[in-house]
Amino acid sequence: MHCRYSENMSPKSALKAKSEPVQPETPSRPLALLQWYDRHRRRLPWRAAPGEASDPYRVWLSEIMLQQTTVKAVGPYFEKFVARWPDVTALGRASQDDVLRMWAGLGYYSRARNLHACAVAVMREHGGAFPDTEAGLRALPGIGPYTAAAIAAIAFDRRTMPVDGNIERVVSRLFAVEEELPQAKPLIQQLAATLLADSRAGDEKSRAGDSAQALMDLGSSICTPKKPACSLCPLNDDCTARAQHTQETFPRKAPKKTGTLRRGAAFVVTRGDELLVRSRPEKGLLGGMTEVPGSAWLAGQEDTIAKQQAPELKGLSRWQRKVGVVTHVFTHFPLELVVYTAKTEARTRAPAGMRWVPIATLADEALPNVMRKVIAHGLDP
Ligand code: SF4
Repeated sequence: MHCRYSENMSPKSALKAKSEPVQPETPSRPLALLQWYDRHRRRLPWRAAPGEASDPYRVWLSEIMLQQTTVKAVGPYFEKFVARWPDVTALGRASQDDVLRMWAGLGYYSRARNLHACAVAVMREHGGAFPDTEAGLRALPGIGPYTAAAIAAIAFDRRTMPVDGNIERVVSRLFAVEEELPQAKPLIQQLAATLLADSRAGDEKSRAGDSAQALMDLGSSICTPKKPACSLCPLNDDCTARAQHTQETFPRKAPKKTGTLRRGAAFVVTRGDELLVRSRPEKGLLGGMTEVPGSAWLAGQEDTIAKQQAPELKGLSRWQRKVGVVTHVFTHFPLELVVYTAKTEARTRAPAGMRWVPIATLADEALPNVMRKVIAHGLDP
């Protein structure tokens, strides 16, 4: 396949070459990408069928859910949300608690709070219609630069290229970007924009959303982190990393800093068939979610110090320490929790700020994954 970018071009000279005239008899890189997309696009529940207009609500909802979460995990949640709240106004009228409950298990719960706040803002400030520009979208809660570009391109066909991890990988390989991430992001963003079909160059109408989705699909199904299927790639004749046999070494990344291990204790207290729980503060990690009482989570915290933060209740049995620890990894730190259990008398009142919930209805609580693990460990006989 002939291409206007030579394999030996540096990423920066490739940017300059974008202004050179296109030879109409050979498909440009953007057009090759769109032709591949037309044949191999993934069927996804939020994606419009070919030729159909995208629904901005479904695009927005899927993009928020897909942040740090896989397509496979998002699928059932997306279906549940649109079945219960078929449009943004319906979601804006829901209570935040209901939204958090439906979100439980998907992780990164600030997304759920922002999702609800955004739906309320679209309902109240925009009459139930999403703004159709990147700037307008970025002004809404929970919508950062990537999500704004993705919605603008996919829902409104704005000529912009959202760059996520998949697209970063494809672009860094195509152009053999030597600069390390995250410093390389602006350059990758510029190079990714050269993959948008250019109506002025005769590629065909913009189809910005399809160009973006084509790159997303290429990154997830062909240009995978390990063993990319280069022989199936529509851009394989133009890929610098492939020519050099260095595909898997891109994108270049600065060494990762892992957070310091934090330690703490969690207290599983039962009153007959009920469990003692509380809600986390609205702001911060797992804000507003349900948890069992626990100590602070601190680096190097001794078990004895963590245990001193146990709740005080009348008629409490002795604390039993469960064998082993519950581990969980958050984005910025790993966590280890020791679990203590105790039983209390039938009429014991919950301490201030806590409540009893029937164990049988725990599924209705907005429990983050770490708390599901703690409760399962604590209730395990
Ligand atoms: S040729 Fe291979 S490495 Fe290059 S973009 Fe295609 S799949 Fe990725």
